[in-house]
Amino acid sequence: MKILVPVKRVVDANVKIRVKPDGSGVDTANVKMSMNPFDENALEEALRLREAGTATEVVIVTVGSEKSAETLRAGLAMGADRAIHVKTEAPRIEPLAVAKVLKAVIASEAPDLVILGKQAIDDDNNQTGQMLSALLGWPQATFASKIVIGAGTIDVTREVDGGHETLRLALPALVTADLRLNEPRYASLPNIMKAKKKPLDETSPETLGVDIAPRLTVLKTTEPAGRTAGIIVASAEELAAKLKQAGVL
Ligand code: AMP
Repeated sequence: MKILVPVKRVVDANVKIRVKPDGSGVDTANVKMSMNPFDENALEEALRLREAGTATEVVIVTVGSEKSAETLRAGLAMGADRAIHVKTEAPRIEPLAVAKVLKAVIASEAPDLVILGKQAIDDDNNQTGQMLSALLGWPQATFASKIVIGAGTIDVTREVDGGHETLRLALPALVTADLRLNEPRYASLPNIMKAKKKPLDETSPETLGVDIAPRLTVLKTTEPAGRTAGIIVASAEELAAKLKQAGVL
């Protein structure tokens, strides 16, 4: 079984986001970038399936700039077998464009399973997996917290409001990973060295025949409103009075 894991380079989860002064987007200059955290879960799961002998090959793919190669090297260091870089310097690549590119990659790679992250933490779209499954006509299970491979099927437990739901999908299928799926590993130093020699193929949206021109226009990006200062009350009575005054009680 071959598994394809799409991974995205995003602003590191620990970085405080700054909006560009002209409101045109988020400032990514000189900011630490990392693999999208949910993609680490997706990759970790694929690696565990390979280590369990269920999968034979784990291929990672990214659609992005020259610098996204760093993310692919990080994924190879975690343990992926090879990588595909769909290179583009386009400043914005919408989920539909990514899904179309991934569909083209899937046409030549023919994986049995595609595991994506449930959402990229930069734009919080939560769309690419769903769009890709529709374009492929494959079954999908989103927000996976557990995956069990059967004979030609996959059982996916997904997090839903107030509980869990388990779906059985026929392979080939598409899954999106939630944080609780697993605890991603860190790359060891020997694996970081080994990753430098692993195959990393390059292609482009044009070579794949995909138009990635944006369909949407970003009108404005703004910082969240700052919190106003709180006040300290002297007693429970004063608190109750203030809540009553505010109409909360
Ligand atoms: P989104 O729909 O943008 O929230 O992204 C959901 C998932 O799609 C991510 O967690 C990745 O697995 C995948 N994805 C999104 N953008 C890219 C990209 N540029 N390259 C590769 N995979 C991507």
